[in-house]
Amino acid sequence: MNSKHFLDLDPSPRILLGPGPSMAPSRVLRAMATPLIGHLDPEFIALMKEIQELLRYAFQTENELTIPISGTGSAGMEASLANFIEPGDPVLIAVNGYFGERLCDMAGRYGAHVDRIDRPWGEVFTVAEIETALAKKHYKLLAIVHAETSTGALQPEIADIAAAAHHHGALLILDTVTSLGGVPVEIDAWGVDVAYSGTQKALSCPPGLAPLTVSPRAREILHTRKTTVANWYLDLSMVEHYWGDTRTYHHTAPISMNYALREALRIVAEEGLENRFTRHRTHAELLWEGLTELGLPPLVPIEYRLPTLTTPLLPEGLDEAAIRRHLLGEYNVEIAGGFGPLKGKVWRIGLMGFSSRRENVLLLLNALRELLRY
Ligand SMILES: *Cc1c(COP(=O)(O)O)cnc(C)c1O
Repeated sequence: MNSKHFLDLDPSPRILLGPGPSMAPSRVLRAMATPLIGHLDPEFIALMKEIQELLRYAFQTENELTIPISGTGSAGMEASLANFIEPGDPVLIAVNGYFGERLCDMAGRYGAHVDRIDRPWGEVFTVAEIETALAKKHYKLLAIVHAETSTGALQPEIADIAAAAHHHGALLILDTVTSLGGVPVEIDAWGVDVAYSGTQKALSCPPGLAPLTVSPRAREILHTRKTTVANWYLDLSMVEHYWGDTRTYHHTAPISMNYALREALRIVAEEGLENRFTRHRTHAELLWEGLTELGLPPLVPIEYRLPTLTTPLLPEGLDEAAIRRHLLGEYNVEIAGGFGPLKGKVWRIGLMGFSSRRENVLLLLNALRELLRY
């Protein structure tokens, strides 16, 4: 083996404006280079408490069980389903994009009887539709995506959806992967039972942890399960002891990722949630205006358009993949194509966390103006 074949790591200075990962501020990257300490070191345990407190702020919750799950956003999704589904449980899943499909896939793997309610990609659900679906059976839980990253739609009226779920005796699981830290997420005020997110989107931390929060009511249900959780790694009845008072070893916490998350959340707290939401909104509006001028109007109506991810409609016949290649090769700008029913029809442009900056919007719009000319 000739190690000289392997060059120094030197990735291009990309501007990440896709569906994730977003760019991480240098403060967050530096935190990852901080020397390791043990995962049961009192200093690390103090740091875990701080992370929990900062996460409660981000989620706007008092939930004691608020922790980062080891793994990317999908691990948060998997933890939420694996812990609250027992074989044979009827569950209802709202599907209006790719991540709703993934929820169905995962729930089925844990033995749930999955019923789904569907809307076309790019649309959102009315509370009445959800209420009607909930009335059909006694569902254990309802799972829905707050911000559909595959379509750019933001599901409104989560508080009313939570109330409907509770009225019918179901828990509400909310996917906040692309909303947390970018648009309002109010776990307690809305009455959400379980919510999960990811570090790599609007929190602007590298991929690797999945913030999760569980209400006291949902925690009760967890403790009265009849069967063991079918996923050892994500079993909250064990993980909660490591994050709780006993600090029992379960798996080694990813130390450097926790350093990074703490720093990213410190930045969220310094900026303040309200300022952060306004910044995301302002830069998204600048992007929407510019795209519309270029003849690429957003697919999703303004009333439920997501500020963290925009899906401009592409003119027929446009070689959209070639333009994305030029954007990356000549401008170092990453955006993503559409997929599923939106393949070739839209792009997916993310303005998440640290990536949501005026200069990034202007760079992208100028680059598109040049590229669309030929
Ligand atoms: C990205 C994303 C996920 C999955 O997160 P990973 O970090 O890719 O595992 C889940 N739900 C939504 C809405 C997402 O955007």
